[in-house]
Amino acid sequence: MTRNEDSTHMAALLHRQRSAFLQEEPPSLALRKARLARLRAAVLTHREALKDAVSADFGHRSRHETDIMELSCVIQAIDYLSSHLRRFMKRERRHVHLFYRSARAYVEYQPLGVVGVMAPWNYPISLTLVPLATALAAGNRAMLKPSELTPRTSEALRRMLAKAFREEEVAVVLGGPEIGAAFSALPFDHLLFTGSTQVGRKVMRAASDHLVPLTLELGGKSPAIVARGHVNGRTLQSLVYGKLSNAGQTCVAPDYALVHEDDLEAFIAQYAATVQRFYPDGLSSADYTTIASNRHYDRLLGLVEDARRRGARIIEMGDRSVHVSGHERERSLPPTLIVNVADDAPIMQEEIFGPVMPVRTYHQIDEAIAYVNARPRPLALYYFGTEDGDCARLLERTTSGNVGINNTLIHVAQDDLPFGGIGPSGMGAYHGIEGFRAMSHAKGVFVQGRWNLPGLLHAPFGRLADMAVALTLGKAKASPP
Ligand code: NAD
Repeated sequence: MTRNEDSTHMAALLHRQRSAFLQEEPPSLALRKARLARLRAAVLTHREALKDAVSADFGHRSRHETDIMELSCVIQAIDYLSSHLRRFMKRERRHVHLFYRSARAYVEYQPLGVVGVMAPWNYPISLTLVPLATALAAGNRAMLKPSELTPRTSEALRRMLAKAFREEEVAVVLGGPEIGAAFSALPFDHLLFTGSTQVGRKVMRAASDHLVPLTLELGGKSPAIVARGHVNGRTLQSLVYGKLSNAGQTCVAPDYALVHEDDLEAFIAQYAATVQRFYPDGLSSADYTTIASNRHYDRLLGLVEDARRRGARIIEMGDRSVHVSGHERERSLPPTLIVNVADDAPIMQEEIFGPVMPVRTYHQIDEAIAYVNARPRPLALYYFGTEDGDCARLLERTTSGNVGINNTLIHVAQDDLPFGGIGPSGMGAYHGIEGFRAMSHAKGVFVQGRWNLPGLLHAPFGRLADMAVALTLGKAKASPP
């Protein structure tokens, strides 16, 4: 198909979904729940096929990681949305000023119509299906554009969803950046994009032609700050988990660590010991995921080699060449620490998205705060320490997406927390009620009551109008000379 044919095909799909949406009765609680149940059943039926597809796309993806970090998240989100949907959908009574009493005001959360969802490759299942579940819960139809970099998973999702839904309800469009560009230019009622900040800018530009409202879930460098004296087993367990799950290819992975200067050597030793404990078979462990593409693998090697040339201390925990059952496992990158590399090194400038952790030292917590604030606002921020004055100061003085205290990543799995970045790390949020509301229209309705005091206030205005004005503005004072 040519680009024009693709665009025409996608526009026709959108038109069909929108017509079906307009013809349908407003989707009831029961219908929304039934759609969520269909999605749930489809995911569980295709669980093994999806896991195989992701692993084949990555080269090697830990099956446990796919179960825990993708499939469980999807099922958990569906269950949470289903069980809270009645409350989310409930009409909300709003305050009416004394002057207008006897009238009523309320907000009705109305479905928007057709929601577009664009997803990246790093968690190709959950980042497609959690937005889909949210769109369905809010009573919408959805068109999805998964990543071309995980072609088997994207195809498996397409097949799975085609069995579970009519194309007028849920449709999947496959393709690369060209299709992505055309997709983001469609006149959706809402578009949720997850991906890089760079492509997010293009998506926002494309969406502006039709003034399509956006949720942008982007990336960035998420810092982990370890308070003085808090290098311990719990801290390192959470940091290594956050950095090495999916081999660091996680938008909310701790990108770099800020460690108190007195604790540096203890940090390095405990990081290495934790890696050894998590992956006793080294990189050939079934639970150590590979880098998903040659481009990203070469980029990561380049970042490490550049830091080495700059004289940084590099600690690699394993061998780059990994053999499993007599075959070389391609694109395995060892867990790596890079100590006190210069701030202008590319590894301190761009999102790492791999199992490499730069470690910088600080002397006072204010230095760490200033370091974070001198950089673009991150998607997540992590703090390890007690919930004391320093912790409060860090929370008050920095602005990021979510924060994890003594924990990494798990904030994302809390369905009752909004998830989203700020500034270059994103715009808007979803998950739980925030997602439901992002994909609904909050329609304010005012219902006139029997007594209509303001209705008496029309031209020619008289004493009654003066009294009403005095009620809110106070008595008119003589103007100053
Ligand atoms: P990407 O921006 O390259 O791709 C995301 C999607 O955009 C894909 O579907 C792709 O086909 C499409 N696309 C590519 N070029 C396009 C264009 N010119 N116009 C329109 N669409 C286009 O991102 P990626 O490499 O797949 O994912 C990694 C990035 O995503 C990282 O920066 C990561 O931090 C971020 N991310 C963010 C979150 C989050 O929830 N905030 C989650 C996962 C990943």
